[in-house]
Amino acid sequence: MSMGEVFLVGTGPGDPDLLTLRALRCMQAADVVLYDNLVSEPIRALLPEGIERIYVGKERANHTMRQQSINALMVELAQKGRRVLRLKGGDPFVFGRGGEEIETLAEHGVPFQVVPGITAALGVAAYCGIPLTHRDYAQSVTFVTGHLQDGSMDLDWIALARPRQTVVIYMGLLGLPVLCEQLIAHGRSAQTPAAVIQQGTQPTQRVVTATLATLAQRVQTEGLKPPTLIIVGEVVLLHDKLRWFQPSMEDDSASLM
Ligand code: SAH
Repeated sequence: MSMGEVFLVGTGPGDPDLLTLRALRCMQAADVVLYDNLVSEPIRALLPEGIERIYVGKERANHTMRQQSINALMVELAQKGRRVLRLKGGDPFVFGRGGEEIETLAEHGVPFQVVPGITAALGVAAYCGIPLTHRDYAQSVTFVTGHLQDGSMDLDWIALARPRQTVVIYMGLLGLPVLCEQLIAHGRSAQTPAAVIQQGTQPTQRVVTATLATLAQRVQTEGLKPPTLIIVGEVVLLHDKLRWFQPSMEDDSASLM
């Protein structure tokens, strides 16, 4: 039996218009798809009708399928000659375990291709009108994971607390109070602007802005739901002036084409 192939494809942060052409072509060429909970419903709707769908989503504390089983399943399907589409939210190489997945493929001699996607930080920043760098406010930007391990976050706080930079935190909603406390404890001003963005680029997008001192409380009051991204830095001030995406505008989006 001839060997199949795996397409590891990033689908971006949710708005189907942010898919790349290459992603769409791979979606059309595959015969089985393994997808995450981060792959939005409108993107799943673009999959061809006859494709076999396997949900391998991982939500916190509900690991539907463990990473090793996902890797093994991809190898098995490809060895049966299948054209496997591994769909991921955002970009596969940014907090996406894409590296681990293709390492297993490489070890088994399974051919693969990688298609980049717009990572959440870039998509969310654009749709919120928060430029991640700006000559007046931030010369650099850092992406970190805020995933809690035993109630704490193993981050380089001294580096993250330095001024004139933007810090974007993935998977940080649960750890938000710890994150704000630690940044302040390591010298970032308590007045530093910060935002939490829920379901960025999607019709359900919500943005809450505050300061490091007040953000955790504000987010709790607003009852935001994952996925959420946190942006810390003076660039957040620009949101008020540069916001353009109004989720309720969604119905009119065809007129923009
Ligand atoms: N590979 C993905 C990230 C996977 S980690 C990427 O490149 O974007 C999952 C985290 O990404 C979520 O916990 C959240 O912090 C962030 N995220 C993904 N999509 C998002 C969206 N539409 N809005 C806000 N945050 C999002």
